[in-house]
Amino acid sequence: MQNLVVERGADTGGGLNAGRRLWIAGQVQGVGFRPFLFRLAHRHGLSGWARNTVGEVEVLVCGAPAALDAFTRELNTRAPAISAPRLRGIEDWHGDVPEDFRILASEAGPQPRIFIPPDYFTCEACLAEMARPDDRRYRYPFINCTQCGPRYTLIRALPYDRPNTSMAGFALCEACQREYEDPADRRFHAEPVACPQCGPALSWRAPGQPPADDTTESLDCCVASLRAGRLVAVKGIGGYHLLCDATDERAIARLRRLKPRPAKPLAVMFPLAGKDGLAALRRATTPTAAEAALLRSPQRPIVLVRKQPGALPEDLAPGLAELGAMLPYSPLHALLLDALQRPLVATSANISGEPVLTEAADVEARLSHLVEG
Ligand SMILES: [Zn+2]
Ligand SMILES: [Zn+2]
Repeated sequence: MQNLVVERGADTGGGLNAGRRLWIAGQVQGVGFRPFLFRLAHRHGLSGWARNTVGEVEVLVCGAPAALDAFTRELNTRAPAISAPRLRGIEDWHGDVPEDFRILASEAGPQPRIFIPPDYFTCEACLAEMARPDDRRYRYPFINCTQCGPRYTLIRALPYDRPNTSMAGFALCEACQREYEDPADRRFHAEPVACPQCGPALSWRAPGQPPADDTTESLDCCVASLRAGRLVAVKGIGGYHLLCDATDERAIARLRRLKPRPAKPLAVMFPLAGKDGLAALRRATTPTAAEAALLRSPQRPIVLVRKQPGALPEDLAPGLAELGAMLPYSPLHALLLDALQRPLVATSANISGEPVLTEAADVEARLSHLVEG
């Protein structure tokens, strides 16, 4: 984590301060930073408030000087790892002292300092929930929390609050609302919080098949199609991908002929397997320690790794010693790969040279000759 750096003239020396106002920059929106401030203020018996301004978080804390010092110090040492906070300013406060600590509605500042949080792959806690049959989000592909899930792709305007995201149209059910409002819950103020009751669902369309609008049924149809060697366009985070079985030479040859992408290497997505998630990937490639760390990072980049000769069809990266590899970057991809237990080719769903498609109608219009689901 980056160290907390004071950028503006600051007087943090103790005394008889009633309170302190702080301005914090960094990746502080969309990562559970305000809930973290809420819990930290409670731990030290401080009142006040926190709110998102454009690109920053502003906070007021009031209480005993020693508690204010502890709060300021722990902003650095206890912050969520992905938030990398930077203290931009600090001022003494001599105004009214609030009775409790609150998260206030956001304020759009006059001079925007834009920070848009990136999309993060599902955290360990959400993966564990998604795998538990008695959990209400069992196999739910839109699971997320303050520490994971899409951000950048959902945002329509800043500051980052639910009404400014594409989740605005999904009213929270009672259970999700409770989590969203409970400071002790790991989904406290998680803006994209959702569940099968109140959130988005999957649907499946394929020529000659009845449409499915149920999440589980759609997942099963998609898995069956991929297993049968078909080409499927899957709407992921940020647009459509074309997927096919990366162990199936005929499926790969058809993808190359139709897209068309005759010779360029294709990226391969591997199922999460084993203790570090890389067991399946290691059966086909030999990543270095640095490559393995990069593959596992929450932004899930495509990483070039050395192939194990003969492990996968040569046509994936003809004549090359390396393969573009990645791990699932959304819960949907994790579920598909987990059900299939084999790697998938993942390439942008567009005709070579055209932009990536993001709408179902465009996919049907432009790719009907190509995709079978
Ligand atoms: Zn999570
Ligand atoms: Zn819900």
